[in-house]
Amino acid sequence: MTDCLFCRMVTGEIPADVVHETDRTLAFRDINPQASTHVLVVPKAHHPTVVALAQADPDLLGAVVRAAGEVAVQEGLATEDGVEPGYRMVANTGPAAGQTVHHVHLHVLGGRDLGWPPG
Ligand code: AMP
Ligand code: ZN
Repeated sequence: MTDCLFCRMVTGEIPADVVHETDRTLAFRDINPQASTHVLVVPKAHHPTVVALAQADPDLLGAVVRAAGEVAVQEGLATEDGVEPGYRMVANTGPAAGQTVHHVHLHVLGGRDLGWPPG
């Protein structure tokens, strides 16, 4: 999809601050970080929401979640075998949740105390 921002970042047409990559996923720093670590993890293939991805390609959803977990370890938000200090993995879905880019992405947020309930 040439009009999709994240598809264009996957192809390299728009620059991304890439922190992790696999054959099927890409992770890059959010341009407007909401925590000291704020990374977006996307499938290279275009799917609009996390639910659409789960329906179309559950194996790819698993790859995106695994990549997000590897980013958390890489960023010092978790250990290989633990979840300390911890982080938040978020998939905003639809307008009421503030989804602005309609290419599924997991936000990986950490490095500060994350309040609950979220805003
Ligand atoms: P969402 O609101 O869940 O759809 O999240 C979209 C995210 O993409 C926001 O946190 C934006 O700051 C981020 N974003 C928009 N443009 C870029 C860009 N060029 N590079 C990195 N992150 C971006
Ligand atoms: Zn896309």
